Amino acid sequence: MADKLNLFEMASLQFEAGADLVKLDPMVSTILSEPQNEIIVNFPVQMDDGHYRLFKGYRIQHNNVNGPYKGGIRFNAAVNLSEVKALAAWMTWKSALMGIPFGGAKGGVTITPRDHSDAELCRVTRRFTHALGNNIGPEFDIPAPDMGTGPREMVWIMDTYMSTFNAHDRLATRRVVTGKSLLNGGSAGRDKATGQGLVYCLEAYGEKLGFSIDGMKFAVQGFGNVGSHTAMILQERGAKLVAVNDHTGSIGSDEGIDAPDLARHVLETGGVKGYKDAGEITKEAFFATNCELFVPAAMECTVSSETEHLLKAKYVLEGANGPTTLKAESSLRDRGVLVIPDILANSGGVTVSYFEWVQNKNSEVWDLERVDADLRKIMFRATNRVIEESASLNCEPRRAAMVIALARLDRVYKERGIFP
Ligand code: GLU
Repeated sequence: MADKLNLFEMASLQFEAGADLVKLDPMVSTILSEPQNEIIVNFPVQMDDGHYRLFKGYRIQHNNVNGPYKGGIRFNAAVNLSEVKALAAWMTWKSALMGIPFGGAKGGVTITPRDHSDAELCRVTRRFTHALGNNIGPEFDIPAPDMGTGPREMVWIMDTYMSTFNAHDRLATRRVVTGKSLLNGGSAGRDKATGQGLVYCLEAYGEKLGFSIDGMKFAVQGFGNVGSHTAMILQERGAKLVAVNDHTGSIGSDEGIDAPDLARHVLETGGVKGYKDAGEITKEAFFATNCELFVPAAMECTVSSETEHLLKAKYVLEGANGPTTLKAESSLRDRGVLVIPDILANSGGVTVSYFEWVQNKNSEVWDLERVDADLRKIMFRATNRVIEESASLNCEPRRAAMVIALARLDRVYKERGIFP
């Protein structure tokens, strides 16, 4: 099995494996094999020095049979069509698995955010939103943060989109985007939601398999929103962060690294490099860290045949989307390593996005206790279902998660049919 498939080929093979097990109706399988809409825009933006540069942006709308298209927008130099198509399909499976009334989408702009000033990033975000026009909408397609974007960009998208409506209709369109700042209609707990969901998912696994988070040593790859919040919450639960890697380098300490302190360092300096209370280690040493839990929370395909054999962890908890190649996953399975798949593990983000959307729709403001309690319930329910399905089909959790998601989509399409 090739390690070097493009991302959509990888997502398609995962889809086919799930579809085989479910015996997915050929009509449904045909529909789901490609995204419904692939929107590519080239839009000009004025740079600070006065010249104009053209940027390429994508919005891939994979499926909306269960509800509006839903998924993040990433700003990253590696953004390309195959990547965004795969990420959009994973959003469809994620929403269906969690039982959230959303479909799947993903978008992105090919850009390196750290090469741009805040003013340029603002203009890029607003021009991209303008270029997308009515391809997004509060009941049609709802973006959210992803790699390289956060509440700031979401508020820019919201403001740009809202401004195209007359004053009477404007506020009702605020939920065109989720992951907004608290002051601008965001939800309590959305910033940490993906990390919080990862920890609830791990806790549910722990209850079933008989392990405890307390005392567990773990390593995290990527210390952005997902990696840092996961590490901080795991630390609160008594686990010990012993190694971190990001685009600036790798650090390790058997004594433990203080996650909130490292998060402050990353915010100030842009990466983990130079953190005072941990030693610099090689990338190989990072992957080979002695720990029970490995959390990939960076780019896709970082757990590949080049790195998988180094891992000593018993559990891989996928914070990123698509971090494990198919080949690496099959080797990990043979070695008895449990891979808790992205579409289950990292779905806390879209779940709290759903809470944000509902709050905006109903003019409600939920407190953090309510958000956390509802997220916990949904994460535990989905995780327990995946564990049961995986046991009854004797397959790995990713396939079980796909089976649950696809069986649901199969039933929906069979009841509806297609028009005309
Ligand atoms: N970008 C996140 C993900 O990959 C969140 C998506 C959302 O909240 O819509 O799941």
